[in-house]
Amino acid sequence: HHAKDQGQEFSRYVDKLKLVTQARIELENDMRKALDQEQFFLEFQPQFSLQTNQMVGMEALVRWRHPKRGIISPGEFIPIAEDSGLIVQLGEWVLRTACQYNKNWQLAGYPPICISVNLSMRQFRQYNLAERVGAILKEVGMEAKYLELEVTESMTYDIETALSQLYSLKQLGIHISIDDFGTGYSSLYYLKSLPIDRLKIDRAFVQELMLDGNDAAIVSTITTMAHHLQLKVTAEGVENEEQLEFLKQQNCHEGQGFLFSKPVPAGVFENEFLSRLAG
Ligand code: C2E
Ligand code: MG
Ligand code: MG
Ligand code: MG
Repeated sequence: HHAKDQGQEFSRYVDKLKLVTQARIELENDMRKALDQEQFFLEFQPQFSLQTNQMVGMEALVRWRHPKRGIISPGEFIPIAEDSGLIVQLGEWVLRTACQYNKNWQLAGYPPICISVNLSMRQFRQYNLAERVGAILKEVGMEAKYLELEVTESMTYDIETALSQLYSLKQLGIHISIDDFGTGYSSLYYLKSLPIDRLKIDRAFVQELMLDGNDAAIVSTITTMAHHLQLKVTAEGVENEEQLEFLKQQNCHEGQGFLFSKPVPAGVFENEFLSRLAG
């Protein structure tokens, strides 16, 4: 390489970096308005018992209907919301809205089921988290037992805080699950002492289940461990019958994934799933 080529290459790199940063700043600014302008909405993905094949719960997942860019997935905007701190406001909107939907469905006469809501680390670290969650439940009038909060293993980064937060949340009467289990750094030592109800096996392990013996071993081990620790276990990202068969053989309790349904809007969820629930 000539020095000149390298110089050009570098300035192209700087230009690209500027563009990426610019786009990010723009998205962050848009997000501030989006909350006021009600551009966020929820989709719901059903969760099924692998024993009875009945729907036993659902996960609420946020989406953003951007006025110029169309629908943006959480994978793109949640990390930005995390960095900017906007996730706290957005997360509370999600929680309130999810509980409101679930309460309304109960009022409409559907058999009550549990709704799972993702909690960001930023929310998890709020000193008055349990108080805020409790206030939302009260405001909406939904019983705590119909709410499950999904946290990630990264909460164990500060084990003392994690324990006290989890205990306060549990005292409300809600359920707690560890999302994306197996991809984080939480040690088994902590796991046994955490007041949690469920492990959700990350879909990365479920995906390659039938192709990769190591993944099959991991899924089987997590499931067995969950049983021994008296935790419920849910497999995420179940996409085909072979995976489902394997998970059933392992006595995995519940499954969530495209094989059953992708996340769907509220109206579709009501018509396709709630209305078919036996009372
Ligand atoms: P997650 O909590 O692990 O949610 C499951 C994700 O896997 C969802 O992606 C869902 O659409 C996708 N999924 C479900 N079944 C399958 C499958 O069979 N195959 C494949 N390939 N994917 C499947 P989504 O909705 O794009 O959400 C991505 C992540 O964004 C979530 O992962 C969660 O970490 C985060 N997220 C979504 N909504 C919220 C929210 O309200 N608050 C926070 N803090 N995070 C959220
Ligand atoms: Mg989740
Ligand atoms: Mg997650
Ligand atoms: Mg997950």
